[in-house]
Amino acid sequence: MTEFAKMSGFTEVSPNYFTLNKDSPKAKLIAEAFQWYSPKFSPKDVPRFYDVSSLTEKPEVFSTMTNVIADRYRALPKDQQPTHIIGYDARGFIIGAPLAVALGLPFVLLRKAEKSPGLLVKSDPYAKEYTEKAPDTMVIRQGAIDSTSRVVLIDDLIATGGTAVSGFQLVEALGAKVVEFCACIGIPFLDGVARIHAYQDGKFKNVPIFTLIHDSQVKDENCGDPKEWDSNKSRVIEASNMQSM
Ligand code: AMP
Repeated sequence: MTEFAKMSGFTEVSPNYFTLNKDSPKAKLIAEAFQWYSPKFSPKDVPRFYDVSSLTEKPEVFSTMTNVIADRYRALPKDQQPTHIIGYDARGFIIGAPLAVALGLPFVLLRKAEKSPGLLVKSDPYAKEYTEKAPDTMVIRQGAIDSTSRVVLIDDLIATGGTAVSGFQLVEALGAKVVEFCACIGIPFLDGVARIHAYQDGKFKNVPIFTLIHDSQVKDENCGDPKEWDSNKSRVIEASNMQSM
């Protein structure tokens, strides 16, 4: 039995896939705070766009999330605890940075499209739940981690797992080990966990995936779409036009 499987407060929903116990007050707090938007009011064409700012704009929820995740890694035996937190561009930065501060660990950025300075290592192109103009690649700075590093990979959401896999590939390329992949919310129907575990003949099949909650815990009533909005109008208002509204 792995250390994560022994921890109380979590459910192993499928092999090496954990969530917070769904009836726990903390899971309910997060699920009740999480807002989603329909395609009409979203930057991407997905049935429900989950808005991480609905969590970060509520200090009690943001700190609960950070503490739950930090306590999970503090509970590991010392020699299994992460040495680095790695966040995915861009919403993984929001969750990962306070986690790294809470744990007193370095926070490493995985950035899209070679936006970082220095010597970089680039992932294979990857696809996501929604289509971009061109497939993204992710980069990490050479030397940010090495063969002595144990990392937690962190993002806001896991859907198809394409983004997640790019991080696994980069961590492996630099010789480090993934302790766990962590996200606020998972969409199990899109099979992201299976994709990570099946990647390259299952080389990461023993790496645990942890999401605080599942999408099914977020109710239809949490839709953030404005009720009174003329659907012919753009959802984006020019600041210079605000005075006349
Ligand atoms: P995927 O690679 O398909 O697992 O998609 C995960 C990445 O895309 C994460 O970095 C998310 O920020 C973003 N993403 C995908 N689907 C959604 C969604 N329904 N709501 C919000 N973000 C999403």
